[in-house]
Amino acid sequence: MRYLSANDHYRQRFGKKMYRVAISLDVTCPNRDGSKGTGGCIFCSAGGSGEFASDKSLPVREQIDMAVAKVRSKAGADAGYIAYLQSFTNTYCSVQYLDGVLNSISSHPMIGAVIIGTRPDCLPDEMVSLISDYNRKLPVYVEMGLQTSNDNTARLINRCYDTSVFGEAAGRLRCEGINVTGHVILGLPGESVDDMMDSVRYVVDSGCDGIKFTCLYVLKGTKLYDMFINKEFEVLGMEEYFDIVDRALDIIPEGMVVYRLTGDGPKSILAAPEWTANKRAVINYINRRFG
Ligand code: SF4
Repeated sequence: MRYLSANDHYRQRFGKKMYRVAISLDVTCPNRDGSKGTGGCIFCSAGGSGEFASDKSLPVREQIDMAVAKVRSKAGADAGYIAYLQSFTNTYCSVQYLDGVLNSISSHPMIGAVIIGTRPDCLPDEMVSLISDYNRKLPVYVEMGLQTSNDNTARLINRCYDTSVFGEAAGRLRCEGINVTGHVILGLPGESVDDMMDSVRYVVDSGCDGIKFTCLYVLKGTKLYDMFINKEFEVLGMEEYFDIVDRALDIIPEGMVVYRLTGDGPKSILAAPEWTANKRAVINYINRRFG
């Protein structure tokens, strides 16, 4: 294997295969409610980048029970589970609210770790300190969307925070011993391959423990979709995309976890690129090329 995958990392850390179970919280995003911006990042759908998550009106414990029940027969008795707070910005709430959520998660007997997806500008010191407290009882992973280190592209995609905010937040989390992952999108409008490599280098230099790649995909109903229809940019082909990933992997230091080489959007609203919808073909390609 050319890189340390999520599975390998989880096996090393937990001694078994770990399955992620998506949990939805009653949160939104400062980029949608007007406090930082409106409309959200131009690629983000109404589901807040978490189309596969569960029903947020249910108590967290119930969501975990339901999500575990769904995968348990496939996972087997020896598997472990990681609660994944993926949709929207899961630290964009009061400390008390997140405390209650993490308390439910950490006391659930099936859960061995938690991943908190968020933005770096939503991590005040009190939040980091709360996460740090829980991290002593249950491994916590914080996943932050950088997407690009190029501030011009960041403005174009309406990210609504400066790149330096990511590095600063990653530093504070690492100081508390919290595991940090940075998310990078490859193929953003107007970006050269060198821009993309700069983003990868930025995540590495920020001291992140892991990185997650996604090929830019276009979802119907987003601002990005309008730009795509107006031919303002082109999406990457599969071969072209993985050539870029190949270069990115050369930058990743040994021991840094590559959680994902690409992602896939919900098929019902996916406009392009079509190859991202063919999950089996993509996995086979990845195994052949990088396995
Ligand atoms: S910060 Fe995340 S949830 Fe908010 S608009 Fe951007 S991608 Fe969507």
